[in-house]
Formats: sequence, structure tokens, C-alpha cells
Amino acid sequence: PGEAAVEALQHADVARLLPVPGAESDKYRRGVVGIAAGSARYPGAAVLAVSGALRGGAGAVRYVGPAADAVIARFPETLVSDRGPRKAGRVQAWVVGPGAGDDASAVAEVLAADVPVLIDADGLRLADVDAVRGRDAPTLMTPHAGEAAALLGVAREEVERARLDSVRELAGRYGATVLLKGSTTLVAGPGGGAAAAVRVNATGTSWLATAGSGDVLSGLTGSLLAAGLSAVDAGSVGAYLHGLAGRLAADGAPVGAHDVAAALPLAWRDVV
Ligand code: AMP
Ligand code: MG
Repeated sequence: PGEAAVEALQHADVARLLPVPGAESDKYRRGVVGIAAGSARYPGAAVLAVSGALRGGAGAVRYVGPAADAVIARFPETLVSDRGPRKAGRVQAWVVGPGAGDDASAVAEVLAADVPVLIDADGLRLADVDAVRGRDAPTLMTPHAGEAAALLGVAREEVERARLDSVRELAGRYGATVLLKGSTTLVAGPGGGAAAAVRVNATGTSWLATAGSGDVLSGLTGSLLAAGLSAVDAGSVGAYLHGLAGRLAADGAPVGAHDVAAALPLAWRDVV
């Protein structure tokens, strides 16, 4: 048996998968995405995750965590709460981890929710493997190579050298969909194993190698999950739009992560 295909989504595939509201839509039916991110030390990660989530197709963004003032100052349409994720009210998908520091309880609460969960950044280190494996709803983990290496207990160079094997190994270990970030992004479904198809995305630009860029991706992708995409589709469509937005925002010059978020509607329009 040969290696299973490594597939790349094309413009038309992404256009078909984008969640577009219809006449019957209201904000709740479009999906509410919950963002449990940020800390006193890293409030900006929360702001950037929300910035991505607002442009990902969910009908509302709910933020829980210590950076509510910063989030509201920048994005007044955000629903904020100072209670933990468990008491936050209606949420169709959670994003947990960007800039979260050592708040293990938010991660545990989110993992206990029976809705799709995206785990990024600090959340990856804090997520208990058995808690992830035991979930019924989909889980999507979004490490960069350094975070993937830490989870696998190997050196970063080893992940860089064997990215396809690494993303499959992690997916199998956690029973989760895994999105491995980098100059190209790989998405492996929860089956893991050498037979499982992997999606690859190369719409990005090296200008995306900038602080906070991954936080925008996690919010965006969480929003797609809340809007009803599967974990594999949300991950690959998220990476596609994020990469394209990076290209459009940068256009050959340096940009900040907030510029990438602001360019997400341009990327979306480019696809449809
Ligand atoms: P993070 O490391 O969490 O901030 O995420 C960085 C984001 O930028 C991910 O979406 C990466 O795929 C993307 N990225 C980082 N470096 C590059 C690169 N050299 N080329 C294209 N995309 C990149
Ligand atoms: Mg990151």
C-alpha cells in the first residue's frame, strides 16, 4: 500500500466550504465562537484571536478571560464575560490557549464542553492527552514546529525534518485533528497513521513569520468551526484564508498580525 495522498485545497474547494449566511440566518444560527485566551502578560493575544474570529463567519464572538477590557476597547461587538468558560453561556466552538500563560483550568473547562475545541499556543502544553482523547466532539490542535516538538518530546529540528510523519504521529497520539504551522501548513485528521490523507496549504508568505500571526489564525479557524465546518475543513480553509490574507496585506512589505486580520475580508472576497 502506497502513501495516502497529500491534497491541497483549490480556490473552488474553499469557496464551496465558506459559511455564507442565508435569509433564514440569525447570529446564533451562524454560530457563536468562544475565545478563552490572553493573560495580564499577553493581553494582545486575546485581541488578535478575537480579530481573526470576527472575520471567520461566526455570528458572534464571546470572550472569556483577563483581557476583556483590551478586547472591548478594540472590538466593541465582542460579548465578554469574567466567568470561566463553563459559565460563559452559549458557544458552538471554543478556541483556547493563545497568550493564556499557565491557566490550566480554562483549558480543562473547555475540553469538558461538548462542542468543537481548537487548542493553540500555551493551551497545547496545558491540555491533558487523556482529556483530549476522551472527547466526543472534534478537537483541532494548531502547533508550530516548536510546540509540536515539545508535545512529541523531540527536538524542533526533528519535526522540521519529518513534518508529515510528525503531524500524523501527533494526530494519532491525541486522537485529534492536528494543523502543523510553518511555511507550508499540514492538516491531518484524527486517525493519524501513514494511510491517512493530509491536507497541505501553501497560500502563505514568509511575511507571516511575525508575532501574533498564529493568534489570528486560531481565532479565524475557531470561527469556521463554530459556523459548522469539520475540524479538517476548518483547519485547511483557515490556513488558506490566513495565508492569502497575509499575502494581500503584505504585498511585499512587512506587516503586523493585526494587518493580516484586517485583510481577511479581502482574502474571502478573492475566493468567492
Ligand atoms: P505562530 O508561530 O503561532 O505565530 O504562527 C505563525 C503563522 O504564520 C502560522 O500560520 C504559520 O503557518 C505562518 N508562517 C510562519 N512562518 C511562515 C513562513 N516562513 N511562510 C509562510 N507562513 C509562515
Ligand atoms: Mg503561536
